Amino acid sequence: MTRIEEVSLERAPLEWDTPLFHTARSQFEQALPYADVNDHVAERLRYPERSFVVSVPVHLDDGSLRVFPAYRVQHSNVLGPTKGGVRYDPHVTLGECAALAMWMTWKCALLRLPYGGAKGGVRCAPRELSDGELERLTRRYTAEMMPVIGPQEDVPAPDMATDEKTMAWMMDTYSMQKGYAVPEVVTGKPISIGGSVFRAEATGVGVVMVIDRAYQRLGRRLEGASCVVQGFGKVGGVAAADLAERGVRVVAVSDVSGAVYREEGLDLERVSDWTQDRRPLIELDDCHHVTNEEMLELPCDILVLAALEEQLTAENAPRVKAGMVAEGANGPTTLDADTILAERGIPVLPDILTNAGGVTVSYFEWVQDLGRLFWTREETRARLAEKMGDAFDRVWELSESRGVTLRRAALVVGIREVAAALAARGIFP
Ligand code: NAD
Repeated sequence: MTRIEEVSLERAPLEWDTPLFHTARSQFEQALPYADVNDHVAERLRYPERSFVVSVPVHLDDGSLRVFPAYRVQHSNVLGPTKGGVRYDPHVTLGECAALAMWMTWKCALLRLPYGGAKGGVRCAPRELSDGELERLTRRYTAEMMPVIGPQEDVPAPDMATDEKTMAWMMDTYSMQKGYAVPEVVTGKPISIGGSVFRAEATGVGVVMVIDRAYQRLGRRLEGASCVVQGFGKVGGVAAADLAERGVRVVAVSDVSGAVYREEGLDLERVSDWTQDRRPLIELDDCHHVTNEEMLELPCDILVLAALEEQLTAENAPRVKAGMVAEGANGPTTLDADTILAERGIPVLPDILTNAGGVTVSYFEWVQDLGRLFWTREETRARLAEKMGDAFDRVWELSESRGVTLRRAALVVGIREVAAALAARGIFP
């Protein structure tokens, strides 16, 4: 007779327990001693509040049917509705969404936005799907998420491989179920249906605002500096263009296929035209090509990471030759790499501060949609600059006064805001 082995639930890993969630959780633990948080509040914040796993069936163009795993994790709704992007990527897991949701909580709190953190995604290879397939996937994913998203519950936004078209499909699907237009259910929409005039550029421009402010604090000159940008997408593409406008020499940019490199500075308009039709950079001719791994080790003043998680690790961090690292992406530096870079005196502008321009302008978009009142590009940009500058200064000052890295300072500032709110509200019941 076969013996059934005893299964201990004590030892079974939690569903979101992945290396990336471990990173997010460890950062939280390391920040706690500086944040002065009561034990019960800290214990609550270690866990995502709600996690959803669904399977999304899609009719493909060839007549077959495929089912895609999909997720949404809401880490904390203490300060308000949860907020976070939706990504389409072959590697999305529940744990990845949980880590990104936790970071979103600290980010929103750091920027003093009335939101908690969320993140969602569909495990798929977006480049292999046609527009029609992507639309059917998005609409069914939204339908599956109906019970948990909403303007006062959870407000999705674009992330990796999703854009304003995706948000328009989400908004329309949600509105069709409700029976009236609900633009405030997502942000990052086209302007014609209530999008902010500045949302598309917000994250990339915010990254540059943070770099600029750090340069001022460090007494360095941005004009004439050199820069490498990993990930020439919505964040990296805009950051590269904005840096170039400020007189920075952008020597290399990359996409998933590889990087293009030119020591005298790239012709960004040409690169942009090429990538517009989803053409891989590896096929751009008349350029010197290097791999994504090689580009991370190119000598430069500023290395902008704007692709995905875990790009600088214990393995390559000792070889980084940048004067500063700016995290446009979420979680691109592992814990080990962080320590190595700190030891080597290379400042890291942390993700929850540096890429917060996106969620900040998303907040403006949501407020405008709720009030049916719209601001100009100049107004939005000025409000963003004010918010980013204020958050930067609070982080910088804490980093100086406590002698901690900018990442730890940013986490402490964010965690303190959430913890104070949770302590005031109490833990139900
Ligand atoms: P995107 O899809 O527009 O661009 C991603 C870029 O990274 C593309 O050029 C892609 O080819 C490249 N890439 C993908 N996989 C790669 C790999 N394995 N190696 C090298 N390059 C790779 O996405 P995005 O919106 O620009 O997001 C980039 C990062 O910024 C993500 O970490 C996202 O979570 C973060 N972020 C985005 C926003 C936003 O407003 N879009 C806001 C905050 C943070």
